[in-house]
Parts: sequence; structure tokens; C-alpha cells
Amino acid sequence: MSKFIFITGGVVSSLGKGLTSASIGLLLKSRGLRVEMLKMDPYLNVDPGTMNPFQHGEVFVTDDGAETDLDLGHYERFVGNSMHKWNNITSGAVYMNVIQKERHGDFDGATVQVVPHITNAIKESWLRLEKPDVDVVMIELGGTVGDIEGAPFLEAMRQFQLERSREDVAFVHMTLIPFLKASGEVKTKPTQHSVQKLREIGIQPDMLICRTTQEISSENRKKIAMFCNVRPENVIEEQDVEFSIYQVPVMLMEEKADQILLDRLGMNYADVDLSSWNQMLQRILEPQGSVKIAVVGKYITLTDSYKSIYEALTHAGIANHVKIELLRVEAEEIETHSAEEILHGVQGILVPGGFGTRGIRGKIEAIRWARENKVPFLGICLGLQCAVTEFARNVCGIQNAESMEWMEPGKGDLSRAVIALMDSQQKVVQRGGTMRLGAYACWLKEGTKAREAYGNEMVRERHRHRYEVNPAFLKILQKNGLIISGKNPDSELVEIIELPDHPWFVATQAHPEFKSRPVEAHPLFKGFIDAAIKQETRS
Ligand code: GLN
Repeated sequence: MSKFIFITGGVVSSLGKGLTSASIGLLLKSRGLRVEMLKMDPYLNVDPGTMNPFQHGEVFVTDDGAETDLDLGHYERFVGNSMHKWNNITSGAVYMNVIQKERHGDFDGATVQVVPHITNAIKESWLRLEKPDVDVVMIELGGTVGDIEGAPFLEAMRQFQLERSREDVAFVHMTLIPFLKASGEVKTKPTQHSVQKLREIGIQPDMLICRTTQEISSENRKKIAMFCNVRPENVIEEQDVEFSIYQVPVMLMEEKADQILLDRLGMNYADVDLSSWNQMLQRILEPQGSVKIAVVGKYITLTDSYKSIYEALTHAGIANHVKIELLRVEAEEIETHSAEEILHGVQGILVPGGFGTRGIRGKIEAIRWARENKVPFLGICLGLQCAVTEFARNVCGIQNAESMEWMEPGKGDLSRAVIALMDSQQKVVQRGGTMRLGAYACWLKEGTKAREAYGNEMVRERHRHRYEVNPAFLKILQKNGLIISGKNPDSELVEIIELPDHPWFVATQAHPEFKSRPVEAHPLFKGFIDAAIKQETRS
């Protein structure tokens, strides 16, 4: 039987619960334990797939094509396990499942209620992760204790601890210890109240992880411990990290958070082995230079919207031993200023994925600038579609080349749709089209930069898009010098393109950022940064 660790949050949101859960997951894994992770999101959307990136941040896509919360990205990057659709649930998904069963008559005429039907469905999602080869299941609840929407999840936790033996379940509560400048003190009261709230529900946390900007004195630890009914050594300090989020696991290990939890669960564990993690941290702490990279996107003001992109760039920086200096460029700015004005001096340009028409002109202009000035370029998903459009317009002379996504719905002139909707038979269609979600194979052409970077003939990458490069244009694109370096082996759809007479002009229809890890940078990001380092700075 697996053991369960529940992680809740209090006081404020955005405490970094996902990072902390992922960090504990890494520590447990580094002690030889097999770990499963689950994120529970109390909102009513069935999944975050339709949510605005400005509200929710990035949608993280798994191999099996689930559109999930960005915390799953932290889990993958820290713990190293590939996530699946069952590693993320929402209230919406739970309710939908129960209501569908009710319509189907599965409840034998019973009154269907939050307790026990919703809470049972929540518990089923936990038990799905319990397997003979899983030592610990870590379950993180989004939001803050006291949120109306989170109540059924907390109630399910309360029930679960009674159904299992005491040693099977541990509760971690994460809080904020604010520092008041005026009085020069840290304040423990919000934490006390947050734990009171949990205890009212019937949950007594075993450990508190306290986010703080200051060191928490031993007196304050004792005070928190006494008022919150935990042991002083189980009050864990998590100070703001100085350099990198990847320091968090080390910080938690120094506080013995993992050992305390495992002792609490009565588990045996090996010494922690964080050697490769520490080597990676060393590279972050002592970079041998820096490289200036522009990300030209449309959700630039919210860093969470491109979370995995920024992380993958950081990883590529680590692999190349440099610090990434990010220039976040709002694509629309390039429409009102010139690309030269905004981008001069950068050593690489990345155009990430996206939906809709806003900022497209700016992205295409940035790509033109990168192509003409031989500045390294990496295009991701929409970035590839913009790159192909730019090439069609400015190199092949197809002046009105467009993606159907930017045309009026259903009224597009297909003769200029270099990027088009396809049905499952790879035929261009005016409406509908099949969303490609999850991992697809990609065959790489010999002698290309992509093939060299991957060092492999066949790779698999995750997708999340509706539009594709229109096969009708392949001949003219290739005749003008565009190289199709990656193709799907079954459908022949274009996966990766590149230009030969350029230091690094590579774009992919997939989202390689999801598979990048701090200890193993993604080959395309690594190759991009390597080329950027070699780039003479234009100023
Ligand atoms: N909007 C484009 C499509 O649906 C690209 C999507 C993306 O970049 N993820 O094809």
C-alpha cells in the first residue's frame, strides 16, 4: 500500500506550493522511493484547456494529451516522472463524472450529494495512483484553506485519514509568515488562523512549511508550533530563494522536511543522493557568461503564461554554462516600433506558441529580422506557423500567405493558406479540424540541425494545436530553400523546419519545452542557446 502526503495552502495564494510539492517529491525520489504526484484544482472548468493564459498561466500538456495545470510542469522538472491525465483533477471533472453517473442511473435512486458522492469520487482519484510499485502519493490542493470551492477536497482528506491507518497519511500545510517593516517583526497570527481553519475541518497538519523573507527565530518557531499544535522541528522555514527555484529542494533538505515526513509515515529510506542536482545548481551559481534572448509573445506580462518556455531556456543556459538574460517582448510593440529598434543587441529570438491573431504581425516581423540578420531563432508551434508564413511571403513571394487561423472564420481564401486546418485524412477543411494533442512521433532528416541536435532519427514530442503546414505549399517552400527537417512518420505532416544558410533558424510544430529538465536540457533549446552564444552581438 502507498503512503499519502497531502499539501494544502493557507494565508495567501501563490506561495509556491507546486514548487514545494515538487521539491519534496524530488527529495523522496532521491532517497530511493517511488513517487506519484496529483494536483487538485478546485475550479469548475473540467480542465484548464479553455482558460485564458492571462488568468491561469500556461496549460501543461502531457504525453497522453491531457491539458493540465502548470504545476505538473514543476512535478516533471523536479521529480522527473512523466505526468498523465490522472495526475490532475478539477472540481469540474469530478462533478461531471458524478453527474454523468447519476444520469446513467448508477446511484440506484439515491440522493446524490457532495458528501459522500463527490468526496468518494475525489478519493477514487487518489486511489487510482496507489499501486504496488508506488511508495508515496503526494497530493497538492490548489487554492487556500477557507475557499468555498476547496471544501469537498478537504472533507475527502478528513475522511481518508480515518479510513487509513494513522501512519499512512501525513498533512503538510504551507503558509506565509509576513514581515512587517514598520515594527521590524515577523507575524505568526495569519498562520495560526489558517491552521485553526484546518483544525475546524478536522485536519491537524503534521508539518508547516512557512514561506518567509526573514529567518524565523527559534522562539517564533516554538510559538508557531504551540499555537498550531505541531512539533517545533516540524515548523519548516522556506525562505525566498536567492538565485533559482531549483535551490528549494536543497533548502527543504537542510530543514529535514523529507526525513521528518518519512519518519512520520514510518518509512525506511536511503541517504539522499542529490549529486547531479547539486552539480546543476553549481552551474547556475557560477555561470561563465550570459546570453541575451528575446521572447516575442502575446502573454508577456504574466510570466506564468510561458512558464515551461522560460524554464527550458534556463535549462539550456545551465547546459551551456551561461545565464540567460531574458528580454520579454510584447509582439504588438514590434508592430508600432521597428524590429531593429526593439531587438537590436539580442543574441537569439524565440517565438512561443499561442492562439488568435493579436500580435501576429509583430511576431512575423521579428522572425523576418532574425532570418535576414542571421540571428538565432527558435519557433515553437505558432512560432513555426509564423516562420513558414514569413518565408512564404518574403522569400517565396506569396504575398498574402496566411494561416487560416488569422482569416475570417469559414471565409478564408484557401489558395493562400500556407497554414491550414486539416481533417484526420490530412485534407484541408474550412472548419473543425482535428486538434493534435499529446505526444506524436517525428522522423528527422539526415544532415539537418534538428537531427544533429537530437542525435536521434525518431523522437516524440508533445503537441497542442489545430493548424498545420499546408502540404500543398511544401514544394514551393522547399524549392526556395526551406528544409523540412522533421515529419510525422504516419501522416507526413511537417514537424520541424529549418534554414541551411543561417546559424540557427529552427522551428517546431510541437512543444519541446514541456520535456526539458534542469539536469537535462532539451536538445533544441540547447542547440539554440549554443548558437546564440556564438552570435556576435549586433548593437
Ligand atoms: N494557434 C495555433 C494552432 O492552433 C498554434 C497553437 C500553439 O501554438 N500551441 O495551430
